[in-house]
Amino acid sequence: MASYTDIKLFINGDWRDGVEGQKLPIIDPATEEEIGQLSCATKPDLDIALDAAQRGFETWREVSAFDRYRLMRKAAQLLRERRKDLAWLMTKEQGKPLAQAELEIAAGADVVEWFAEEARRLYGKVIPSRHTSITQMSIKLPVGPVAAFTPWNFPVNQVVRKLSAALASGCSIIVKGPEETPASPAGLIQAFVDAGVPDGVIGLVYGDPAQISEYLIPHPIIRKISFTGSTPVGKHLASLAGQHMKRATMELGGHAPVLVFDDADIEKTIRAMVPSKIRNAGQVCISPTRFLVQEKTSDKFIEDYTAAMKKVTVGNGLEEVTEMGPLANDRRIPAIEEMIVDAQSRGASLQTGGERIGNKGYFFEPTVMSDVPTDAMVMNQEPFGPIAIINRFKTEDEAVKEANRLPYGLAAYAFTNSAEKIQRLGKNIESGMLAINHVGLGLPEVPFGGIQDSGYGTEGGSDAVEAYLETRLVTAFN
Ligand code: NAD
Repeated sequence: MASYTDIKLFINGDWRDGVEGQKLPIIDPATEEEIGQLSCATKPDLDIALDAAQRGFETWREVSAFDRYRLMRKAAQLLRERRKDLAWLMTKEQGKPLAQAELEIAAGADVVEWFAEEARRLYGKVIPSRHTSITQMSIKLPVGPVAAFTPWNFPVNQVVRKLSAALASGCSIIVKGPEETPASPAGLIQAFVDAGVPDGVIGLVYGDPAQISEYLIPHPIIRKISFTGSTPVGKHLASLAGQHMKRATMELGGHAPVLVFDDADIEKTIRAMVPSKIRNAGQVCISPTRFLVQEKTSDKFIEDYTAAMKKVTVGNGLEEVTEMGPLANDRRIPAIEEMIVDAQSRGASLQTGGERIGNKGYFFEPTVMSDVPTDAMVMNQEPFGPIAIINRFKTEDEAVKEANRLPYGLAAYAFTNSAEKIQRLGKNIESGMLAINHVGLGLPEVPFGGIQDSGYGTEGGSDAVEAYLETRLVTAFN
């Protein structure tokens, strides 16, 4: 049985406290109790981590693709074996129900395995030359040590995509993990350590996010940045990366529209879209948020969707009956409350929810609002909580226009039984990912990423490793 302990930094193959001894409390969001202390890194620790990452890179890039593959597969196997203990730690620190936490670890193992296999397929090219004595080769080499910044909503999943792509490509990596949910990412790294990853190839640090990113991104040892988090922070970090000519992948905020047409199977839509909304209490960048429902169906949809949301069991994620846990931190409660009050003051109808539950733990009611005006805050900012907005539309053009109104472009969903509409939506919805008639996003083998203000680059599929590789030309005259 797992138990929560203090969490340390992982630098140069050792779990250790920060040189300056700084610590942060770790809080259980279901009870608001302190469950441990987190060691924080400051500049002297980062210097050690950077030196180690440079040496780790020099070692790791010489490890053959086949051996990288073997080590990563072993780490995936260890993750699967440890998934129950890791899931317990994740629920304790993050709040999501145990079943969701366990699924995150299992999905994480799949990601590691997918990228392990990709390591064996990082092909270059031989390019036909203009002269028989000349050969031209395009070769792929690892870009170098990576700095990755990951958030608290998927403590393992957000790390594992960056870590696996970096390791598959032959890069070393320093992860700045989520301070609020540090034990489960530490467990992920331990699986790689136990699988035999050499010292310095992986570093894990926590601390003041701004101080760490401002130090790591410009540092000459770091060659590539990957960030997941909010759009404003992403823009700041992308500009810092740009100033120092560093490659960057940015997985940022979203505000997913869900287009529900009169010809859709409403029951199936609700069956898919209620669990998807309450998953991780709505703290998901691809969470369905703006439901746009065609007029004829809209009254019934509002009624049935609301009834289903009312039935959701909210509670401590460690209890088996819980379908939705608490919000992950105290900041989310006032942020969500403000959006709900603002929408109501502009004429939105609150169908259900809208309130914090109790006064211990960050529990919030699953909330449905309908007929929300476009200028309401919740229609423009990512709610990142269990709020579904249901608005109505008449024509497909009107729905597409509203879906594309925001500068975000991460995930979008549509439900329709018309093949023509499916064709058109695929072309007309401006979004990095569009799921039609189901919720199949986030598998390791398919692209995962946004466009516009939702960022750039993909963290899934075979394109994801490209971001960690340099393409170089070698041409020879024989
Ligand atoms: P925030 O914007 O302060 O932080 C978001 C994430 O970025 C956190 O993990 C934080 O540690 C990190 N961060 C913040 N400033 C940083 C910096 N200067 N350098 C490096 N990392 C930095 O807000 P928050 O309260 O943690 O979350 C609020 C909003 O962030 C949410 O409403 C949501 O829009 C967004 N968010 C998105 C994701 C995602 O999966 N895309 C995950 C978490 C949060």
